[in-house]
Amino acid sequence: MVILFSFLMSCAIMADSYIGDEPATGLPMVAPAGMGGMKMMHIHVEQITADGLDLRFEADPQKFEVLVEMIDRGECEFLAPIKTSLRAVRIADRVEVKGDVRTAVGLPCARCLKVFETALNSHFALTYTNRREEMEITADQDEVELRPEEINRIFFQGETINLQDAIQEQVILAFPIRVLCSEACRGPCPQCGADLNEGDCGCSRPLSDSRFASLKNFNLK
Ligand SMILES: [Zn+2]
Ligand SMILES: [Zn+2]
Repeated sequence: MVILFSFLMSCAIMADSYIGDEPATGLPMVAPAGMGGMKMMHIHVEQITADGLDLRFEADPQKFEVLVEMIDRGECEFLAPIKTSLRAVRIADRVEVKGDVRTAVGLPCARCLKVFETALNSHFALTYTNRREEMEITADQDEVELRPEEINRIFFQGETINLQDAIQEQVILAFPIRVLCSEACRGPCPQCGADLNEGDCGCSRPLSDSRFASLKNFNLK
C-alpha cells in the first residue's frame, strides 16, 4: 500500500504541473507509436473524448523495476520492447482502460536449460477511479480498506493516469507457468547428461516412468 500510495502521489505531483485548460488544438502529449524510447506511459484524462482515446506506447523493459530484477536474476531476457495498445473510455469519475501488452522474451527451458524465444501477450481491462476527496482523508494511513466493488479498481489522483505499474503487471502475468521450450522437450539424459532432443545417447533407461509403474499396483474394482 505504501508503494501504491507513493505512486498515486507521484501522479498528483505530475498533475500539479498540468494547470488550466488544454488548448483545443493541442496534440496528445503521448507521442505516437514508433517514436522510440517512450517514457510517458500516461493517460491524460481530459484528452479522452466522447469517442474514447486510443493510445500506443513502446517502452524499454529497462524502465520497469521488477522486470529489471527478473533480468538481473537471469530469469529472462527481453528480445523486444514492451508494446502496449489501449483504448480509454471515460464514464463519470471512472476511466475504463482496455488493451493489449506484448513483447518477446528469451526463457531458459526447465528441462533442457536452453534459452528459447517466446512471445508474451496479455489482454487487460482495468478501471481507474478518481478519488480525490477520499485520498485526502486516508492520506496518512498505510492501509486503505476497500469495499468489495473497489477491489478491481485502481485509484488515481488529478488528471493523469500513470500506466507504468499496470503495464509491468501485465507483462509479468503473461509469463508462461510451465517454462518448456516445447511440450515434447526430452531434456538431458539423467545418466550421461546428453541432450536427448538431439538424439538418443544409448544409455539404457527403464521403459516406463516410475510414477506410472506404481499405478499398476492399484487394484481397481
Ligand atoms: Zn527444453
Ligand atoms: Zn545418456
